[in-house]
Amino acid sequence: MRLIIASNNRHKVREIKEILGSFFTDIQTLQEAGLEIDVVEDGDTFEANALKKAREVLAAAPWADAALSDDSGLMVDALGGAPGVYSARYAGAGHDDAANNAKLLQDMAGVPADKRGCRFVSAVALARRAGEPLICRGEVEGRLLTAPRGQGGFGYDPLFYYPPLDKAFGQLTPEEKNSVSHRKRALMALCELLEKERACGSAL
Ligand code: IMP
Repeated sequence: MRLIIASNNRHKVREIKEILGSFFTDIQTLQEAGLEIDVVEDGDTFEANALKKAREVLAAAPWADAALSDDSGLMVDALGGAPGVYSARYAGAGHDDAANNAKLLQDMAGVPADKRGCRFVSAVALARRAGEPLICRGEVEGRLLTAPRGQGGFGYDPLFYYPPLDKAFGQLTPEEKNSVSHRKRALMALCELLEKERACGSAL
């Protein structure tokens, strides 16, 4: 069973290999598979974007049995779920994490502590040559800080306060963050679905 991961991010790839390794004999990143694909993420939902990407990658890799993709972002309650699927380009195309974080802090200026609920969301999609796609969602809830904390992580991590650890994601080690992240939760849900299928004797 050959799987292509629609990513070259080595952290994501390591995590995916750890969680899904037993279901596939061969797991390759886009780069390892010699593929260069730029999928336009224009869906209204994380699920739609993840599925689109997984399907396009599978179509470009006729030798693969399946392709896995994820799409993720931050949803802030007081902003009606924004930045959501626009998380990567919240401050506009070509802007970086710092600009996105600055805009978010500005948009949330004056919002009281009890109204700063937010969540990271991840959707993972597994497109399969023989079979229906599987799509799973993982979420982690927190609160949006009023100033960044910590030097770790990426994206909105320094603004995301995670109450169970009393720290911002930006203050966590990679291992701490990976153990509670939205991506981890989505991948674990996918793993459970695959295990159920395996127990029922159905093929990937
Ligand atoms: P992607 O789905 O990995 O491309 O993520 C889209 C955007 O969502 C990123 O550019 C970040 O701004 C944000 N994001 C997704 N996951 C995380 C995370 O774990 N920490 C911080 N920001 C994230």
